[in-house]
Amino acid sequence: MTRLCTLVSGSSGNAVFLSHGGTRLLIDCGVSGSLARSALAGIGERCEDIDYILVTHEHTDHTQGVGVLSRKFDIPVIASKGTWDGMNIGKICEKNKILFEDYAQMDVGGIGVTPFDIPHDAAMPTGYRFDLGARSVAVATDLGHISDSVRAALSGCDAVLLEANYDADMLENGPYPYYLKKRIGSASGHLCNEDSGELAAHLVRCGTKQIMLGHLSKENNSETVAFATVARVLERCGIAVGRDVLMGVAPRYTSGAVIAL
Ligand SMILES: [Zn+2]
Ligand SMILES: [Zn+2]
Repeated sequence: MTRLCTLVSGSSGNAVFLSHGGTRLLIDCGVSGSLARSALAGIGERCEDIDYILVTHEHTDHTQGVGVLSRKFDIPVIASKGTWDGMNIGKICEKNKILFEDYAQMDVGGIGVTPFDIPHDAAMPTGYRFDLGARSVAVATDLGHISDSVRAALSGCDAVLLEANYDADMLENGPYPYYLKKRIGSASGHLCNEDSGELAAHLVRCGTKQIMLGHLSKENNSETVAFATVARVLERCGIAVGRDVLMGVAPRYTSGAVIAL
């Protein structure tokens, strides 16, 4: 069975668990090693059994626990060259350091992993699509806008973890300083709920059956607002949540619903 589950999601830390055919992956680990351990225990998994950690980019909300876990449990870490150059995770032994310089598909423990370029203000930020036999899933957060590469990579996936970072009005009227508002709202920042809805509609038209909204901003969004906005955009496109697609929101501090395929 294939299982996909967020362990934590948001600017305070991101980590996603994926298992398929006996291979267990973490995508990012932006919390401490002990928090990752307890989050994994919550879904019946152990750090000892993680085979690889894939990193999307060097920001600490995605990398905080990566080095610790790799050293403690001897886990290989996979990331783009730019991410390796930019991330500060302490020393990783050579055998556990796997880097890629282009977006070709890789075999990771029997899972076909295709990295793809995401528009975000990091060195070589990467989303990942996972081909799992007849199924495919993808992790796509930290999207400044919906680029062609993102759209192409996600099309046809059965399940997608999709960013819904902020509500545009909440960001504009919220407490953040001007420079931060500008960064988040820029084409290499984060994705607003409306745009997330637009992309979600495209994905459902291409066959996606399950969408988990994630990486919500604490100050400029809420689970209710994100869900309602995306559902409204979908409805505008003739797509009903529950009938045409299952949709959930990844909680900030705890593990989300397990998507089983
Ligand atoms: Zn980031
Ligand atoms: Zn992030």
